[in-house]
Amino acid sequence: MVALIAGNWKMNGSLSANEALLGALAAGLPGGAAAEVALCVPAPYLAQFRALAAQHTALQAVGLGAQDVSAHAGGAYTGEVSASMLGDFGCRYAIVGHSERRQYHGETDAVVAAKAQQALAHGITPIVCVGETLEQREAGQTFDVVKRQLAAVIHANGPCISEVVVAYEPVWAIGTGKTASAEQAQQVHAVLRAQLQAATAQASRMRIVYGGSMNAGNAAGLLAQPDINGGLIGGASLKAADFLAIIGAAR
Ligand code: PEP
Repeated sequence: MVALIAGNWKMNGSLSANEALLGALAAGLPGGAAAEVALCVPAPYLAQFRALAAQHTALQAVGLGAQDVSAHAGGAYTGEVSASMLGDFGCRYAIVGHSERRQYHGETDAVVAAKAQQALAHGITPIVCVGETLEQREAGQTFDVVKRQLAAVIHANGPCISEVVVAYEPVWAIGTGKTASAEQAQQVHAVLRAQLQAATAQASRMRIVYGGSMNAGNAAGLLAQPDINGGLIGGASLKAADFLAIIGAAR
């Protein structure tokens, strides 16, 4: 299966910084890369990405993604961005249920499941994030937590679940410099794979990616695990050299 290496810029960037970063990425992206590359940019910059992709051919192979999507189809939801709007900008992916949205915006499992439904209904692949806090890991609740989070999305989406990407992102590893060891991550990915297997015959071809301080130094070890099919990369996706090194590690 082709690995997915997806960058999550979070709330970073500016027109000038994005132009420089995307130019450097375009110059360094390997032709015929072993990985599919995606970038989840802040919504105001979706149009800029498209304009730059028209100039830099290498960017045309990069899947454009959003960092969130509304759980509603449209209407009186001030500030929200709908899946159909993301579709207008050619988005292939939308992150849903990132831990920062669960934590700072009170997103519940049900809301995350509805967001995944909206994305799927508009032909956008949701990257469904699940992951435990340090407290939950220390209490031995990791498997229960990630299974509960994924179960909500499976339940709401039925057979369409085979179209999602799952991202295992231990909350304690996001932006902290602490990475789950390859073995720790593989253990959780195997549990998620088994859960998907019970829901769909397509589970073995579904991508389960790891996120949490992935960088040029640890990417190869993580990506070598049998159930780790790519990465969701925050901080390191803001530096072209680091992101390119992670893409290069996906072989
Ligand atoms: C993320 O935000 O999805 C993430 C994994 O961040 P970082 O790589 O910075 O830990």
